[in-house]
Amino acid sequence: AVSMRNINKWYGAMHVLRNVNLDVASGERVVICGPSGSGKSTLIRCINRLEEHQEGEIAVDGVKLDQNRATLDTVRSEVGMVFQSFNLFPHLTVLENCTLAPMLVRRVPRHEAESLAKSYLERVRIPDQANKFPGQLSGGQQQRVAIARALCMKPKIMLFDEPTSALDPEMVKEVLDTMVSLAKDGMTMICVTHEMGFAREVADRVVFMDCGEIVESGHPDAMFGAPKSERLQAFLGQVL
Ligand code: ATP
Ligand code: MG
Repeated sequence: AVSMRNINKWYGAMHVLRNVNLDVASGERVVICGPSGSGKSTLIRCINRLEEHQEGEIAVDGVKLDQNRATLDTVRSEVGMVFQSFNLFPHLTVLENCTLAPMLVRRVPRHEAESLAKSYLERVRIPDQANKFPGQLSGGQQQRVAIARALCMKPKIMLFDEPTSALDPEMVKEVLDTMVSLAKDGMTMICVTHEMGFAREVADRVVFMDCGEIVESGHPDAMFGAPKSERLQAFLGQVL
């Protein structure tokens, strides 16, 4: 579970997160949407400490985020993240991409890490790509490797930052299908995405951000069917 209390963040003089309050329960699926520059990436990057907030409190599974190295390590190993641009290690094979962190961080023995990796590669339906390098795969396949790699750390929470927006249209579905199956398995997920079909199918809650604040949130049916704020209405007019 994640709890964010009165989070404020600035880049220099720019106020990019404004009094953000967000609670995500264990097993819950939350979709975050909003215009470019509204602070979506910054918000989720604060959860695994890729960014630091200046005011407020964030707790991940009851652990309050602070400056301690130990806290950082705990949070990083419990929170998996998938980025828009895959971020695989290009000089490692698919299998090595998946086994590196479990072996280094979790001290899982190689044979165990490899069999775990293979089971997740099967799960994301690319078991036959294990010995290839990322550059030899399609974008959709690379993104599924990135998901498998994150899952190999057995995270309690998965963060997704526009995982399909760099993909060719024909590859979006295979990645979304993977995410849907993860959601249906009960993974706690926070996804920044404008894939409204995905939001409707799996999200327990949609959170709409604009100018660094949460403007409106609610069940996808209500958010898309009966948006209350003018800002959300305007946004939906553009993306739907
Ligand atoms: P997009 O939909 O384009 O990905 P976003 O909602 O994810 O946008 P953020 O990337 O969180 O938006 O950015 C929020 C604001 O913070 C923007 O105004 C952006 O220019 C600014 N910003 C983001 N990262 C930095 C940084 N490292 N240094 C300074 N400003 C930043
Ligand atoms: Mg972003």
